[in-house]
Amino acid sequence: MAEAFSEPIVHVDMDAFFVEAERLRDSGLRGIPVVVGGRGDRAVVAAASYEARAFGIRSAMPMSVARRRCADLTIVPGDHAWYREVSTRVFGILRDTTPLVEGISIDEAFLDVGGLRHHADSPVEIAERIRGRIRDEVGLPSSAGIASVKLLAKMASEAAKPDGVLHVPVDEQLAFLHSRSARALWGVGEATFAKLDRLGVETIGDIAALPERTLTRLLGPSLGRHLHLLSRGIDDRVVEPESEAKSVSVEETFATDVVGGPALDTELLRLVDTLGYRLHRAGLAGRTIQVKVRFPDFTTVQRSHTLGHATHLSAEILGEARALVAAVVGEGRPVRLLGVGLQGLVATDERQLSFGAPATRDHLEAAVHRVRDRFGPSAVGPAGLRPGPEQPSPGSKEEG
Ligand SMILES: [Mg+2]
Repeated sequence: MAEAFSEPIVHVDMDAFFVEAERLRDSGLRGIPVVVGGRGDRAVVAAASYEARAFGIRSAMPMSVARRRCADLTIVPGDHAWYREVSTRVFGILRDTTPLVEGISIDEAFLDVGGLRHHADSPVEIAERIRGRIRDEVGLPSSAGIASVKLLAKMASEAAKPDGVLHVPVDEQLAFLHSRSARALWGVGEATFAKLDRLGVETIGDIAALPERTLTRLLGPSLGRHLHLLSRGIDDRVVEPESEAKSVSVEETFATDVVGGPALDTELLRLVDTLGYRLHRAGLAGRTIQVKVRFPDFTTVQRSHTLGHATHLSAEILGEARALVAAVVGEGRPVRLLGVGLQGLVATDERQLSFGAPATRDHLEAAVHRVRDRFGPSAVGPAGLRPGPEQPSPGSKEEG
């Protein structure tokens, strides 16, 4: 089996997106200082070409200032319908790469490419493939950052611009993070920066050097703790696809960490069983099986596998989920939270679903679910499941 990627998070960000989208339909705008924005007294720069940036023009700057900085500045009014159309093409390429795409804005997204390790040697190869396709099929430049967590992937894409890729290996990420301005850290706005500034903080490394207590006293428990963790490169946010609305998932945070294959497998069996019943109740099947694992240090890993067909069968989901979980957890690593879900849902008549699965299995599971319909969720269950909560645990969630 191909080795897991240590840095599976890719942040793709289009370069000067509005300007480049305008250049797609007006080549006369190429190579010159261009901004997108209004012309009125109160107008601000919505986007600036790199040629305009050379004059010190930045987005959010008043247009009057921008015009003073560059007499030859070309100003193009914004056309959001057009940008959305171009964005849709870009996101089509991203979602063609993996379903684990989380759009952040019209021109940037996070991807979790951890599941693609059988299709590429490295996340860098995947990122270059994506950038190549965006260049060839849409005609636009983009940049990509690759890291183990979202925070660092986003910072890496920023550092890679324009038209570049930056991969931050895990063993270099703290040096990369700590060298950057404290302003670059998520959660540090102007007011927070002003408070940190009084302590002499300039870089993220300076934040990391502060005791957590100092941060929580200065900024409150929530933000203080948040910045304490982020400054150490700890960011447990997973890539959450918008298509989550079209997924069903269950997860559980364990009262005590679960250690060892058999114990974990029992929990997985329970979760898959709950998931299978919900699918049955909702009359749904899906193609992409997804697992989520959180370790005691709060690092969270999400992996998915897409089948060639939609399934609703617990046995089939369990088989795929087992392989995904085993690849993430390895041998004996304690697990704090386990989740399993199904994406790419289709509403389907159950009788049409059992391609690739033995019909008896289908009938058996359907019979079990029907018994539960009549007598309650705990009336019957898969063999091998030890007694447990009758209802889905408090930690479980469902999104429809
Ligand atoms: Mg951008």
